[in-house]
Amino acid sequence: MPKFMSLVAHEFFHLWNVKRIRPKGLEVFNYDRENYTDSLWFCEGTTSFYDLVIPLRAGIYDAQCYLKKVSEAITQLQTTPGRKVQPLSESSFDAWIKLYRPDANSKNAQISYYLKGELVSFLLDLLIRTQSNNARSLDDVMRQMWQQFGQPEIGFTREQLKSVFESVAGMDLTPFWADYIDGTVELPFGEMLAPFGLALKIETPNPIPYLGLTAKAEHGSAIIKFVEAGSPAEQAGLEPGDELLAIDGFRVTAEQLSDRLQGYQPGDTICMTVFHQDVLHQSSLTLGSPMPSHFNIAVMTQTTPQQKSLLREWLGIQPNDPIDVLAV
Ligand SMILES: [Zn+2]
Repeated sequence: MPKFMSLVAHEFFHLWNVKRIRPKGLEVFNYDRENYTDSLWFCEGTTSFYDLVIPLRAGIYDAQCYLKKVSEAITQLQTTPGRKVQPLSESSFDAWIKLYRPDANSKNAQISYYLKGELVSFLLDLLIRTQSNNARSLDDVMRQMWQQFGQPEIGFTREQLKSVFESVAGMDLTPFWADYIDGTVELPFGEMLAPFGLALKIETPNPIPYLGLTAKAEHGSAIIKFVEAGSPAEQAGLEPGDELLAIDGFRVTAEQLSDRLQGYQPGDTICMTVFHQDVLHQSSLTLGSPMPSHFNIAVMTQTTPQQKSLLREWLGIQPNDPIDVLAV
């Protein structure tokens, strides 16, 4: 039910954001050719940000559930290696040739403008709230975008979008744009959450030495589907499409792979046997340290009255809300 309500909220929000408030590149839709814009992160990402906020405000779920959903999105971003390669604005511009045509290397080279756009919108909302002591938020950006571009139906440029954010935030956002929209600097979740008494906890509940590949069972064979860039698996020359046969001479299936790796320590060298294009191939590789697998927004153990009140006002937390008990 909450998932369906998010979908409804998302599509309903598009009646304003995209149907009326839209980038210059999409001002007049040309159905005969590609319509390029580097602002899809705002069209789809900011709409995705609101598809979690609207059900919260409508009381479909509570603040704790909302933060859990944002944490899931952060986990998805932070476990996609392409975030270090492709800037958000480029992901938007390349939508025509890349996002809807994924291949075995997509996760290494790309990032979704829905996902990263949602999280960049989340951080901009926090930044505006912190700057204005909760007097303003992303809602004010949307209102101003509506008045300036949506209502008169004028397409906006990337510079105009940035200057609306800057006028609401009351600060120069050039460094933010350079790092997080046009660059690939890691998003500053901890720094932006801190004024609200929240922190990002990085967890590895089931630590497995790092190999850097995923395999799937296909017709009784374990087929490598993804090899992470820079991982031990890549350095050993393993490729998507290879058939995984054995580790240290013992047969391994796709289902057993994690269990088998758990028997080793980071720094151990293992011998992997695969079929590479029907040729038997053996390579040795050194396992790395386990990678973080879960990112959770959590309330700090010590919070100031200022942090508590910012958190309560931001998320509309009532005194009997479960998260309030944690915050007090
Ligand atoms: Zn959409």
